[in-house]
Amino acid sequence: MTAFSLNPEQTARCAELRTLAAERLRPLAEKGEPGHVNRPLVTALGEFGLLDGLFEGGGAGAGPPGGASSGALDLCLTRESLAYACTEAETAFALQGLGAHPVHAHGTPEQRERWLPPVRAGHAVAAFALSEPGAGSDAAALSLAAERDGSGGWRLTGEKCWISNAPEADFYSVFARTSPGAGSRGVTAFLVPADRAGLTGTPLDMLSPHPIGALAFDGVRVGEEDVLGEVDRGFRVAMTTLNRFRPSVGAFAVGMARAALDATLAHTAERTAFGGPLKDLQSVGHQVAEMATRTEAARLMVYAAAAAYDGEGPQSPGIARRAAMAKLIATETAQYVVDAAVQLHGARALRRGHLLEHLYREVRAPRIYEGASEVQRTIIAKELYAGVDAPTFAHEEEPPA
Ligand SMILES: Cc1cc2nc3c(=O)[nH]c(=O)nc-3n(C[C@H](O)[C@H](O)[C@H](O)COP(=O)(O)OP(=O)(O)OC[C@H]3O[C@@H](n4cnc5c(N)ncnc54)[C@H](O)[C@@H]3O)c2cc1C
Repeated sequence: MTAFSLNPEQTARCAELRTLAAERLRPLAEKGEPGHVNRPLVTALGEFGLLDGLFEGGGAGAGPPGGASSGALDLCLTRESLAYACTEAETAFALQGLGAHPVHAHGTPEQRERWLPPVRAGHAVAAFALSEPGAGSDAAALSLAAERDGSGGWRLTGEKCWISNAPEADFYSVFARTSPGAGSRGVTAFLVPADRAGLTGTPLDMLSPHPIGALAFDGVRVGEEDVLGEVDRGFRVAMTTLNRFRPSVGAFAVGMARAALDATLAHTAERTAFGGPLKDLQSVGHQVAEMATRTEAARLMVYAAAAAYDGEGPQSPGIARRAAMAKLIATETAQYVVDAAVQLHGARALRRGHLLEHLYREVRAPRIYEGASEVQRTIIAKELYAGVDAPTFAHEEEPPA
């Protein structure tokens, strides 16, 4: 299998997932309250076996439509296919992975046994709590304080902000400062159940229907048994999680772009103006061709980045750069394609409830979260220059007289 052409099983599985999302998940999503966790939708993701495909080695025999999955490419295909037909289902699926991956990859046997089965079943809702009002892109500047309480544990005091699924999640993978002044080397990851005393939260109303909120920690007690990974090594837990999911954010974007493109093909073939269908206007045809070409390029970069992650391993040279490139190109492309689709639909696309009105609101945030586009460019540039020796020019060796 190459990254550039899906095999027949993968193609069939994507088609099944799109049908499942349109026929079984879309009706559940429509009954949900925008901005809040849709528990029936999360439960359905579990019942259909989709959540088994979130983790490496987690899907064998579990039976998502068309076969089990667990690699980065499978994750991308699932996210793309769900996004095509139901962005709310895609988001609920991805957030279970983001919130629970630290437990899957770094948790103790007890933590894994307690939380991963209900996450997979869709009975427990997970969240990933890294960002703070004063630390977004610069996550290593986080200040949620974890102070020793004299009984072998810590007290968490401070705030988290823009946390998907908060404040309605059942547990949070929380990143807190255990060593003040130590930057990324002084952060510890904790598994904090939502019912811990002193933990409260507030929902935030966003442009998209995304469930998201802020969390306040007022001396929340955590013990050694709540640590994910090692004390002061929590930043690595956060980064391995984000690295795993980065190409699949691109897949989410590709799914939205493909939905916008298909809607545009149908509309411009049917809508008449100036004596014929819109598609017969050359500028319309060229615009659609551009949308399709850019979407295909983004799709292939996402597949290639994910296939490289699966084939070579997350620590291999070039993996971080490829993941960053995939997320960058796909999220920027989806923004372009959805905007162009709105333009070609005219006023009807802006009516509340239209597919493109929905996609227009959904497509914006992925350019900001899990590393803004500028941060992806910084990752790419850093890797490109790594190992490049700065040339020494004659005028640098001999200062001018
Ligand atoms: C819908 C949504 C869901 C989210 N879910 C979660 C979640 O579940 N968990 C969580 O922890 N966080 C979550 N976040 C927060 C997200 O991770 C942050 O918004 C993101 O890290 C950017 O931080 P910020 O918003 O504070 O922007 P800032 O860090 O203030 O950056 C603002 C802008 O400055 C520019 N910029 C920043 N850094 C650089 C740089 N190095 N070089 C050049 N330009 C730069 C970029 O244009 C950037 O968009 C979510 C955000 C959104 C919108």
